[in-house]
Amino acid sequence: MTRLPIRIYGDPILRKKAKPVRKIDDQLPELIEGMIEAMVEDDGVGLAAPQVGQSIRLIVVKTGSEENGEIVSLINPHVVAASGTQDGMEGCLSLPTLRGKVQRHQQVTVQGIVPDGSEVSLEAEGQVARAFEHEIDHLNGVLFVDRAPADTLCWLIPDPDEECGYRLEATSMKEAKRVFKRLRSKQQAEGKPI
Ligand code: ZN
Repeated sequence: MTRLPIRIYGDPILRKKAKPVRKIDDQLPELIEGMIEAMVEDDGVGLAAPQVGQSIRLIVVKTGSEENGEIVSLINPHVVAASGTQDGMEGCLSLPTLRGKVQRHQQVTVQGIVPDGSEVSLEAEGQVARAFEHEIDHLNGVLFVDRAPADTLCWLIPDPDEECGYRLEATSMKEAKRVFKRLRSKQQAEGKPI
């Protein structure tokens, strides 16, 4: 199966409210597999179906550490309880290399359906709680830049001179929109997504 291209900011599907999954059909496992593959390849911590062009309520989230690499696929997920707050920099595979500070809950309880059809309730905290909230936002057409204060937006730029291997460079939503518009045109020219 060819790799699923990830939709870039400016694609209208990212702003649509995704529809609930009514039935787990034969195509769903293949879609989930493709989403996981794209997420892992692009080094993301989560991905929502609209990001690969499917406006349905389905997300995948890395819940384990690098080593155990556990990934949860959740259909029709929703947050049923949330507590505490955390501030942190966030990014998104649909807005490549952009970062912004977003306040999220520290702990969340998420309910949904796993691919075998059973209902589950998951508790998450820290980065994983952040990832669940971020991905569920996608299903409602909400992106992290809607929640990040404008003065926290920056590009993550690889920089071998820095100990961490990158540096942050302040930007604006206006500039980011220009960059993503170019990126989308490039994708279209290559005949990838719409
Ligand atoms: Zn995202």
